[in-house]
Amino acid sequence: MFNNLSEKLDKALHVLKGHGSITEVNVAETLKEVRRALLDADVNFKIAKDFTNRVKEKALGLNVLTTLQPGQLMVKIVKDELTELMGGDVEGINMSGTPTIILMSGLQGSGKTTFSGKLANFLKNKKTKKPLLVACDVYRPAAVDQLHVVGDQIKVDVYSDKGNTDPVAIAKAGIAHAKQNGHNVVIIDTAGRLAVDEAMMKEISNIHEAIQPQETLFVVDAMTGQDAVNTAKAFNDVLNFDGVILTKLDGDTRGGAAISIKSVVNKPIKFIGTGEKMEAIDIFYPSRMADRILGMGDVVSLVERAQEQFDEEEARKLQKKIAKNQFGFDDFLKQIQQIKKMGNMKDLIGMIPGAGKMMKDVDIDDDAFKGIEAIIHSMTVKERTNPAIIDASRKKRIGKGSGTSVQEVNQLLKQFNQMSKMMKMMQGGKGKAMMQAMKN
Ligand code: GDP
Repeated sequence: MFNNLSEKLDKALHVLKGHGSITEVNVAETLKEVRRALLDADVNFKIAKDFTNRVKEKALGLNVLTTLQPGQLMVKIVKDELTELMGGDVEGINMSGTPTIILMSGLQGSGKTTFSGKLANFLKNKKTKKPLLVACDVYRPAAVDQLHVVGDQIKVDVYSDKGNTDPVAIAKAGIAHAKQNGHNVVIIDTAGRLAVDEAMMKEISNIHEAIQPQETLFVVDAMTGQDAVNTAKAFNDVLNFDGVILTKLDGDTRGGAAISIKSVVNKPIKFIGTGEKMEAIDIFYPSRMADRILGMGDVVSLVERAQEQFDEEEARKLQKKIAKNQFGFDDFLKQIQQIKKMGNMKDLIGMIPGAGKMMKDVDIDDDAFKGIEAIIHSMTVKERTNPAIIDASRKKRIGKGSGTSVQEVNQLLKQFNQMSKMMKMMQGGKGKAMMQAMKN
């Protein structure tokens, strides 16, 4: 996420971060570099210029050069301004209304359908919400099918009416269906076109008018840079939407859209999409994003993600198993699946302060666990629960079945044994012995 921009800003702020004396000249030079970095990230020229002007004014106002740690203060000013530019405070979704009606808008391919599913899943996990997805794309039957696939996947009901060509009627019928069936949130997925056109605007505006949603969200692909900002403007003129959803931030986005969109449409970015999976949704926190862009990591989000996946009941069961020496490969597999649910590996590493920069050239395969999973899947139930029985001939068979080598099977078994030993020690609180085991 924003690797290029992070790198350039890091270079620009290098001097200020304590690698040289700070003078008026190099502050000016730094700001010029910051502006260049923003322009390269596809931030609009005027926004970039205003940004550096504001940083300069603030620095002058605070007499930065005469302070004890001018560099750090400058970096803080840049961070604060970046946060402000992206939205300042976090704004949630207006959940009033019975049911709450949420209308999705945006171009085709922006990620509307995927995000509708992610949001439904996100709300469903809050336990008090029972969402209904409504398919209002009357032009592409495949889009309706796609929403059904998403609904099945997350176990959320989907309302559609394939023969009907009137999206307003479908939306209304969907809301009525929600009321009858005890759904307290309705998420309406609409049709998009490849580019902004009048017919699409008229259609979405008609739906908006007819159903009076509590929340209208505009979904935009972050990869489209400046275009994203222009499209947002066009939709906002017609819909006066409440918030923006930036999708595909997991890709190699330059970051321009995230940075510019708020100041152009004056609407907050509410959520971001960081992958194709249903769990790849995050609340947008401008300040945390500024930290990430400035290479400061985002530990708070990392911990939150871990907490989301944490299941107390499961943890208790696991603890018992470890205590009884019954931790097996099936449990190991479950652990891997939980880590995978936290997001893609590169994204997770980027949240650790400093690690993103260190690992930027390392190619981290999102399917880093694939080989391990294949090996475990090739084991019999007996082998998984009692790995001690895996002898040479079993290893050979497992290797063959998983398309891996005996060495790889051996390596996994060794790691597994070390891990089991360590977990057992942690249970007993034998810190010293654990350190020793880690050394071996
Ligand atoms: P729609 O036409 O606006 O409904 O867009 P879709 O929801 O069908 O998404 C278009 C494509 O983008 C699909 O292949 C999705 O899997 C993909 N997609 C959506 N959101 C994300 C995201 O946050 N990250 C990535 N990498 N892909 C996404």
